[in-house]
Amino acid sequence: MKEAMLWEKVDGEVRCNVCGRRCIIPEGKTGFCGVRKNIKGRLYSLVYGKACSTAVDPIEKKPFFHFAPGSRSFSVATVGCNFRCDFCQNWMISQFTGEVKGTELSPKDLVTMALNNHCEGMAYTYTEPTIFLEYAYDTMLEAETKLYNVFVSNGYMTKETVKLVAPHLDAINIDYKGSEIFYRKLCSVPGVEPIKETMIEMKRRGVWVEVTNLIIPGYNDDPYHIEEMAKFIYQKLGPETPLHFSRFHPDYKMLDVKITPLETIEKAIRIAKDVGLYYVYSGNVPGHINENTYCYNCGELLIERDGLRLTGFNLGEDLLCPNCGSEIHIQGKRWIPENLFKGS
Ligand code: SF4
Repeated sequence: MKEAMLWEKVDGEVRCNVCGRRCIIPEGKTGFCGVRKNIKGRLYSLVYGKACSTAVDPIEKKPFFHFAPGSRSFSVATVGCNFRCDFCQNWMISQFTGEVKGTELSPKDLVTMALNNHCEGMAYTYTEPTIFLEYAYDTMLEAETKLYNVFVSNGYMTKETVKLVAPHLDAINIDYKGSEIFYRKLCSVPGVEPIKETMIEMKRRGVWVEVTNLIIPGYNDDPYHIEEMAKFIYQKLGPETPLHFSRFHPDYKMLDVKITPLETIEKAIRIAKDVGLYYVYSGNVPGHINENTYCYNCGELLIERDGLRLTGFNLGEDLLCPNCGSEIHIQGKRWIPENLFKGS
C-alpha cells in the first residue's frame, strides 16, 4: 500500500483525479476500480508492489508494430480496472472482487527481472495501468535509463495523469472501442471524450501512439462508426498512426456472440485505408496478410509477421521504402535478427 498521487480533499471526502471518473470516495471506501481507498481522509493505492501477472512478451503482442520491432517487453499488471467491459479477455484479474492479491515485487525487482530476462522494455498492460499509476510510475522511473516504457491502456485518464506519465513513456497503445453508446452499454463508461483527449495529448507530448479497435459483431462493426473512428485518427493523430482491427473471440459475459467474421475485419481495413491511414492491421488472425507492413505509397512488402513473430524485415537503417523511397514510420531502436533482413 502506498499513498496515492493526484488526489484532493473535498468536503471531508477525497477525490481521485487519476482517471476520467474522478471518484469522490468516502472514508473507508474504495473508488470504482476497487484498488484506491480513502483511509482516514487520505487516498492510498492498495495494489502498489502487488503484481498479479508478469510475463515476457514480444512487443508485437501488445500490439505495437511500429515501436521497437523485434524487442521483448517485460509485462506487468495488478488487479483492478476502471471499466466493466462485458467482453473483457482478462476479466479474472481486471474484475476482481475481495482481497487484493499479487506477488510482492518492488519497482526495482521488476526492472531486475526484465533485465535478467533479456528484455528491452517494460510494458504496463493486461489490466489498466492508470489504476496502478503509482506502481507503474515508480517502475518507469527505475527503468527509464535502461529500458523503454510502454502502456497498453483504455485511455480513460485525466489530463493530470497524462502530464505526469508522458515524459517517462515511450509509446502507448490505446484501445479505442467505439461509439459513446458502445462505451455506455458495454463498458459502463459515461463518455468517450477523455479517451480522445488522451490520444491527442499523448501524441502532442511526443509519445508514440498506436490504436487498437476490437470489432464485436453486431455491436461496433457498423461501417459508419469505423469510418468516423478512422477519420478522427487521421485528422487528430496523423495518417502515420497505426490502427489494429482485432478479431473478437467470445469471452466473459459475451459467450453468445460469435467470432468476428474475417470479411468484417477486411472491410474495416479497407475503410480505414480509404480514409487515408498508412498502416492498418488485422489482429487475432494469425497468418493474415494484413499482419504485414506495406509501403503506403507503392505497396512494397516491408515487414513480414506471422502471428506475433517477425519473419522478414525489408528496411535499412534509413527507414525508407527500398522501392519508392517513402519514409516509413518506425520508432525506437530495432531488434531484428540478421537472418530476417531480405537478401541476407
Ligand atoms: S482510478 Fe479508480 S478511484 Fe481513481 S477515479 Fe478512476 S475509478 Fe475512481
